[in-house]
Amino acid sequence: MTDFAQADETADMAALLERQRRAFLTEGAPDAAQRRDRLSRLRAATLAWRRDLARAVSADFGHRSRHETDILELVPVIQAIDYLHRNLRRFMRPERRHVALVHRSGRAWIEYQPKGVVGVMAPWNYPVSLTLVPLATALAAGNRAMLKPSELTPRTSALIAGMIANTFAPDEVAVVRGGPETGAAFSRLPFDHLLFTGSTAVGRKVMQAAGENLVPLTLELGGKSPAIIARGHVSRRTMDSLVFGKLANGGQTCVAPDYALVHEDDLDRFVAEYGAAVARFYPDGPASPDYTSIIGAAHHARLTGLLADARARGAQVVEVGPRPETAAARPHTLAPALVLGPPEDCALMREEIFGPILPVQTYATIDAAIARVNARPRPLALYYFGDRDADCERLLQRTTSGNVGINNTLMHVAQDDLPFGGIGPSGMGAYHGIEGFRAMSHAKGIFAQGRWNLPRLLRAPFGRLADLAVR
Ligand code: NAD
Repeated sequence: MTDFAQADETADMAALLERQRRAFLTEGAPDAAQRRDRLSRLRAATLAWRRDLARAVSADFGHRSRHETDILELVPVIQAIDYLHRNLRRFMRPERRHVALVHRSGRAWIEYQPKGVVGVMAPWNYPVSLTLVPLATALAAGNRAMLKPSELTPRTSALIAGMIANTFAPDEVAVVRGGPETGAAFSRLPFDHLLFTGSTAVGRKVMQAAGENLVPLTLELGGKSPAIIARGHVSRRTMDSLVFGKLANGGQTCVAPDYALVHEDDLDRFVAEYGAAVARFYPDGPASPDYTSIIGAAHHARLTGLLADARARGAQVVEVGPRPETAAARPHTLAPALVLGPPEDCALMREEIFGPILPVQTYATIDAAIARVNARPRPLALYYFGDRDADCERLLQRTTSGNVGINNTLMHVAQDDLPFGGIGPSGMGAYHGIEGFRAMSHAKGIFAQGRWNLPRLLRAPFGRLADLAVR
């Protein structure tokens, strides 16, 4: 592994951007073959560095199994690259557009042009995929890119920097490392597009900084994603999906179910079945090989603080799953917990949890569940478990969230052809799918004058023909 000291490259950032922009202007937009070549290099490097990346992520977290890193980070990167590679020509194809009657012999079309240099700012929770999938999108759209990974995963960030330097010229793709100050300086650079993944609070600052230069922005933020379980739908299938989405990566997933709305008749069964599912996934409880640690002491303390606050305010905290006495404790692990009946205004119900804690509230009717969802800021994801089509339809019509998962959790993110993003406080814009390609492209509308247009109609001195224009 390379050294993982955080280099403060702030001073070089503006020069790097200038260098990439000059290369972009000199070489022009890359054709499909050049874009595919960049995607292929990224794919090969990701596979070659796969084991090192998994080791670095595990060291940064305290513990994360290499299988989890493979499934939740490496597979999405490879799948996204392959999807972009396969669909590149279709995405790049100019689009014919309608021409107004008086201009009929002219032609109108759109060309999707690379914006230039794209900045990518990434969080720590999926440090590989949330850096490399935006990068793949930027490259497919023909851009150059500067990446700013998180300081909370220093080993992984250093490794990504090494991998990128081995794979791309600095004027194609470059990595800048550092903490919040570097992030702040990075977000002030006059990129041609900036994609930020992280918290809503920092997203707000990034948007202000980007606004100074009018940099187009994609914000992938967080929030509290609800999971609504229909009456009578506490099945093994439901619980397996819920526990998978909640406890993957130790609950540190932006689209993890953040709180559950369970029908009031089903609460006891829900608690029992949730515990049973946790035991199936993690037979040794928090010491299980596939149970991921909390990223660091500060986040661990934040989570135990949320539990203490909920307990003090009358909620019932239920630790779930096995807890063998002999299991070796790992740094910063936190046992899965349910919190029953948390008051609406406790911190657990106000803040994004980002850990293995699931607050559970009950509801009596689907409209009451909808009202609870709509009383909060618009979430990144919304999950519905049930088979009542009318209720599901009502939920889809009456709530607004970035994405929706029906009878599953997280899997909408794995659909490369679906836009992924939030709305309002959970984000702005989207990537994945053609939407990602277009977010990082400029849709240039072009009109070419034809031979037989009717210019006399439109130009002074206006004659009787002009009357025909307004009918
Ligand atoms: P964060 O906002 O603290 O950090 C994200 C990035 O911003 C990091 O690279 C960091 O160095 C940088 N940064 C920190 N302070 C900054 C500042 N003042 N100015 C500019 N940049 C700054 O987020 P995090 O703690 O790394 O990640 C967790 C958050 O990310 C959660 O809220 C989660 O929901 C969200 N998230 C969203 C998605 C999504 O796709 N929507 C995915 C993963 C995580």
